[in-house]
Amino acid sequence: MATSSRTRIVLLGATGSIGENTLRVIAAHPDKLELVAIAARGQWEKLAAIARNFRVPHVGLFDDDALAAARQSDAFPAGTRFHGGLAGLTDLARLPEADTVLVAVVGTTGLEPSLAALTAGKHLALASKEILVLAGKFVMAAARTRGARLLPVDSEHNAVFQCIEGHATADVSRITLTASGGAFRDWPAERLAQVTVADALKHPNWSMGPKITVDSATLANKGLELIEAQQLFGLRPDQCHAVIHPQSIVHALVGFTDGSTLAQLCPPSMTFPIQHALLHPARAPGVEHPLDFTQLLSLEFRPIDERRFPMLRLAREVMNTGGTAPAIYNAANEVAVAAFLDGRLPFLAIPQIVSNTLSLIPSVEPSSLAEVLAVDADARRASLAQLPAFNV
Ligand code: MG
Repeated sequence: MATSSRTRIVLLGATGSIGENTLRVIAAHPDKLELVAIAARGQWEKLAAIARNFRVPHVGLFDDDALAAARQSDAFPAGTRFHGGLAGLTDLARLPEADTVLVAVVGTTGLEPSLAALTAGKHLALASKEILVLAGKFVMAAARTRGARLLPVDSEHNAVFQCIEGHATADVSRITLTASGGAFRDWPAERLAQVTVADALKHPNWSMGPKITVDSATLANKGLELIEAQQLFGLRPDQCHAVIHPQSIVHALVGFTDGSTLAQLCPPSMTFPIQHALLHPARAPGVEHPLDFTQLLSLEFRPIDERRFPMLRLAREVMNTGGTAPAIYNAANEVAVAAFLDGRLPFLAIPQIVSNTLSLIPSVEPSSLAEVLAVDADARRASLAQLPAFNV
């Protein structure tokens, strides 16, 4: 596929925190990585700066108004080729000159581009949770059919990937994803009823957007990651576990049938998994300092109290149900978290909305992406309808 010696990268979601860290990695390895396309929802001024710095020929904008503004501006290099809407992002994902597509756009927007990249035989570096949660079955089938490589960018999945590589799936007994425990790791159950938006946005170790920070506080983020991991590594639900690890140094552990456990360790920064995914199977000096074992370092592991974190229990139920249940869990959680961030929902109502929606919308075995998206829309409607009852 690659005729040039550099890996040519399409970055969908260039303006978020994954995008920014990806640019740091690409900037550090100009001899190995080349950016050929960037896309974002609407932040065209930020895209223009990236296009100039990295001499990127293709630019995608999901939002029509932003696309019109970008086209009229003189902020982009001369000759920039613009791509608009979902069709534009999908075109970028199968750009003939690209080798690897990194998908870091939020929500369901990344679904079609991800499938298009795999179908075109590109390697897919995956940072968007929704893709495997909603369409794991279709994405994994597309990757198998074309022999395309699926490289997880999320720190935990990247860690499992690194530990599992070269081993037979049959030799893996369990995987354990670590969770920092989020903002309320040490809060007693009683205090969780008074949680404010400001409390939920204080993440101890990672700096991320508000949605994922709240998901870390409820552990819905870990629930979604378990669902993803099950799909990605072809495991049974009972093989996928999570543990609290406050230091965020060990990102995942893989247990083998002989009783050995391998772990992946690095500082809590996304540049490590991003670089691994983009350079795989090669390695090169990282953009940040590695761990220093000459300094005192303690690593702690604690079981997760599912009474305080019901989103994790619900995630395990959803994995056992299969079908569209993970999509319903994801959609209801998105609606509930948005309402919480708006000040329209108490913190403890988030798992209630998700649990109610899971009982309202039956899970089906989807035969197409369109069917999954229809269930996703139903689950959003059912979740929204519950909000007035919780009005704060
Ligand atoms: Mg993660």
